[in-house]
Amino acid sequence: MRRRIGIPRGLLFYKYFILWREFLEGLGFEVLISPPTTKEILFEGVRNCVDEACFAVKVFCGHVAYLKDKVDYLFIPRYASIEKKGFLCAKFWGLPDIIRNTFPDAPVILSPNIDCNRQSLFKAYLFFALELKKPFFKILRSWQSAQNKQKEFELLMEEEKFNPLEAMGLTERNRISRRDSPSIRIALLSHPYNIYDSVASQDILKRLEDMGAEVSTVEMVSKNRLKKEFGDFRNIYWTYDRELAGAAQHLLKEGIDGIIFVVSFPCGPDSLIIDYLTRLISDRLPVLNLVIDEHQSEVGILTRLEAFIEIVRRRKK
Ligand code: SF4
Repeated sequence: MRRRIGIPRGLLFYKYFILWREFLEGLGFEVLISPPTTKEILFEGVRNCVDEACFAVKVFCGHVAYLKDKVDYLFIPRYASIEKKGFLCAKFWGLPDIIRNTFPDAPVILSPNIDCNRQSLFKAYLFFALELKKPFFKILRSWQSAQNKQKEFELLMEEEKFNPLEAMGLTERNRISRRDSPSIRIALLSHPYNIYDSVASQDILKRLEDMGAEVSTVEMVSKNRLKKEFGDFRNIYWTYDRELAGAAQHLLKEGIDGIIFVVSFPCGPDSLIIDYLTRLISDRLPVLNLVIDEHQSEVGILTRLEAFIEIVRRRKK
C-alpha cells in the first residue's frame, strides 16, 4: 500500500508544489494537499501557532492542523537558500522545527535540507530520497520528471501570464477573460502565499480584477528579467525580497499605473524592503501598502482598494 504524504497549502507551496508532487509521486507516495484556506483552517492556525509568528506561518499551521490526522507523513522542506550567496527568511529555515514544536502529535515530518550555499538542489533531494531507502534510478527518474514539470509551470506564469494556481491547474485558467479590456495596470507585489490565498488576502487579486485592473505579479516576470533588474538591489540579503524589488523595477519600466504591496504582519524582511521601495517609488506613481493579519476586516481592505483605484484612474486621466 502506498504511504500517504501531506503537503500543507501555504508558504512555498505556491512556488514548488508542482516539483514536490511530481518528485514524491515518482518515489511512490500518495500526495494529499490541504484544501484552499477556509475560516476554520485560519482559526486553527491562529489558535495553535505562537503569537510572534507572521500571519503567513499561522495560516500554514492551520493547514498542518487540517492534514496531520489524515496522513502518514508531512512534507515540510527546510529551505535556507535557493542560490549561492542568497538566503531565505529564517522562518523557512526553521519551519519543520516550528511545526514539530507546535504539533507534538503530528506524524513524521520529512524535510529535505535545501541550502544551495552548501549543495545543489539535486543533491539535496537525492540525499533526502536515499535516506528513505529509495532506489537510485527511481530517484533520478522522479527528479528529472519533477524538474521538467516545474519548468513548464514556471513558463506558464512567466510567458503566458497565468497566476500560480492557474498554472498548477488548481483553478480554471482565465488569462484571456482577465485581459479582455483592462483600463489600468496594477502591480500586486508580495510573496505568492500572501496574494494567492483568497481567504488570507481577502481576495485582493480578484477584487482588483473585478474593478477592471490588469494585475501583474512577481511570478509573471521571467527569472532572467528579474536578474537584469537587480542593479542597486543586488545586495538585498533575502532572495525573495530581491526578486520583489527587481519586479517593481521592471514593471515600472513597462508602464504600470500603480503598485500595491501586501505584507504579512509582522514580517521582518518585508517591513524593511517594502518601506525602502515605497520611498523610492512613491513620487513616481500611486503606491498602496496593505498589511494582512488575522484581525483584518473585509470592509477595511475593500475601502482602501477602491480609494486607491480611484486615485490611479484620476491620475491616469
Ligand atoms: S518572509 Fe515574512 S511573511 Fe514570509 S515567512 Fe518570512 S516573516 Fe513570514
